[in-house]
Amino acid sequence: MSHNLILASKNKGKIRELEAMIKREKLNYRVYSLEDFPEIPEIVEDGTTFKENALKKASMVAQYTGFLTIADDSGLEVDYLGGAPGIYSARFAGEPKSDRRNNQKLLKLMQGVPMDKRTARFRCVIAIVTISGENYITEGVCEGIIAKEPHGEGGFGFDPLFYLPEYKKTMAELDAREKNRISHRAKAFQGAVGILKTLNEKK
Ligand code: IMP
Repeated sequence: MSHNLILASKNKGKIRELEAMIKREKLNYRVYSLEDFPEIPEIVEDGTTFKENALKKASMVAQYTGFLTIADDSGLEVDYLGGAPGIYSARFAGEPKSDRRNNQKLLKLMQGVPMDKRTARFRCVIAIVTISGENYITEGVCEGIIAKEPHGEGGFGFDPLFYLPEYKKTMAELDAREKNRISHRAKAFQGAVGILKTLNEKK
């Protein structure tokens, strides 16, 4: 019998990637997301760190559903912008959330900035909260450079502007499997695999 696990997100890109990684690791869970629970009210991400936001999302959804819960809080940190947009990545260009406008705003702010000053990283913090309220935190980082123009159609968010020198491609030019091996989310998830396996055996 497989146990229930819910991904505390409505972000289709995140859900797709986390589901693919759960499948790849053959974790024996029946997987849900917030799309299966439209009645859960919007969770206000008012923490000051990725960790606070991830824990808040996971705790609320675990309480609401009674399922083991995973939440991912993630974002882009651009050195030239002092680490912005960071935890504000999703709404960088204001409401309503728009990846297209976020990318346009980033390109504008980085206009004329030379390549060696365009360093950035994606950061992902995963919080796992159990039905009894225990929590676990894992983190992953992926380093790159903000490109001068968008390339690629894959992924989501800032992927078309996030250039990986080692691969000579933006994150949006990688195929999904490749992104799910090297991304910040993949690294955070790798830390979560052992925890999820152990929790599954305990029940
Ligand atoms: P959150 O849903 O509050 O964690 O915000 C996540 C935001 O960070 C997204 O809307 C994107 O702007 C950005 N982001 C996080 N992970 C990725 C990724 O894998 N690729 C591109 N952008 C990402």
